Amino acid sequence: MKHSETLFQAASQHIPGGVNSPVRAFRGVGGTPVFMRRAQGPYLYDEDYQRYVDYVCSWGPMILGHAHPEVVEAVQQAAAHGLSFGAPTEAETRMAQQIKVHFPSMELLRMVSSGTEATMSALRLARGYTGRNKIIKFQGNYHGHVDALLVKAGSGALTLGNPTSPGVPEAVVADTITLSYNDLDAVKQAFAEYGEEIAAVILEPVAGNMNMVPADAAFLQGLRDLCTRNGSVLIFDEVMSGFRVHLGGAQARYGITPDLTCLGKVVGGGMPVGAFGGRREIMEHLSPLGGVYQAGTLAGNPVAMAAGLKTLEVLSRPGTFEALEATTRVLADGFRERAERAGIPLQVTHMGSMLGLFFTEDGPVRTYQQVVDSNTARYGRFFHGMLENGVYLAPAAFEASFVSTAHDDDVVELTLDMAARVMQNLGD
Ligand code: PMP
Repeated sequence: MKHSETLFQAASQHIPGGVNSPVRAFRGVGGTPVFMRRAQGPYLYDEDYQRYVDYVCSWGPMILGHAHPEVVEAVQQAAAHGLSFGAPTEAETRMAQQIKVHFPSMELLRMVSSGTEATMSALRLARGYTGRNKIIKFQGNYHGHVDALLVKAGSGALTLGNPTSPGVPEAVVADTITLSYNDLDAVKQAFAEYGEEIAAVILEPVAGNMNMVPADAAFLQGLRDLCTRNGSVLIFDEVMSGFRVHLGGAQARYGITPDLTCLGKVVGGGMPVGAFGGRREIMEHLSPLGGVYQAGTLAGNPVAMAAGLKTLEVLSRPGTFEALEATTRVLADGFRERAERAGIPLQVTHMGSMLGLFFTEDGPVRTYQQVVDSNTARYGRFFHGMLENGVYLAPAAFEASFVSTAHDDDVVELTLDMAARVMQNLGD
């Protein structure tokens, strides 16, 4: 028996499902999760001494690859000065300044400890600021496990939501309207019906939780216009797309400015970090300036700030992002070409350092339904084939893939050779 399997059995005795976050459990692709021992550059090393090229990158944060020497050194130095003070530090100001270089729309911003906290806080702030309750979100977008956002669409486009998780009271999601991604008409209809009551529209401007689906530029512009006209707050959840689709996130890439932005993942360089911020006038409603309460014992933690600051510094060096994007493009083109050669229908999306793979003829992929209708069983076989050949893709067809600056030409070529091999035996 593999050591990973033994460890999984042991973990399952003590931790629900053996994992501390559900998607790690391989439920989407079957089999036993691989337990990791260490990681370096583009590689993960498991407990059975197998090496993998990693395209999960801890679900996004490890944009410089694993254990980047400069980041590790920064963390070690910060740790030596104390792990947490519960009092302000200069590093927090430097972090805010560094983020604003790339996200000028975040006139004021606050650090939190996860993406979930960022979206939860942004939502509360938007409601507090507008004095309204209703929010619009989109099918296939994930914003963390915030009660009000764990909602699936009702049967009609405008029906209010049903909770997707037991434990979320209907009353909590009664004000959540869930619409179809990239469907501006549905949003117009919702505003026509509820305009005066809508506090916020929240979305992933490049969705990374239904594999990877970019928004249409006209959709984002339409949302911007509707929110402005109706006095609603437009929230871009850039927890995934921030620093990934562009150093300045989707808002820089598309040239569309939200009122509030949520960040996470890359901004913490692998440490537990999130951030939210936006227009000064809105952010000033936050405690202690205003009445909207939000807080965090470990928010702005000095070790986490050190990891994030160094990650952003290295990533911002001239040419770094461009090289990362070029690598991702080679990979995307390569997957497309290998699939074509094998006669496998595959749609590939990519932007910056994010990549999406969909086993379907139905392209381009723009909606959640197209993602659901893709051949997810084939994705599972592809995943396991790649895993056996030393390539670690996301263990679910609904997750994006991520590339790091440590993925060099050799690693990409190796990946594509393995993809060509695995695609020979994918079945239907
Ligand atoms: N928003 C988006 C777009 C995300 O992808 C995620 C996590 N994958 C979150 C929010 C929640 O972040 P966290 O897991 O750090 O709470």
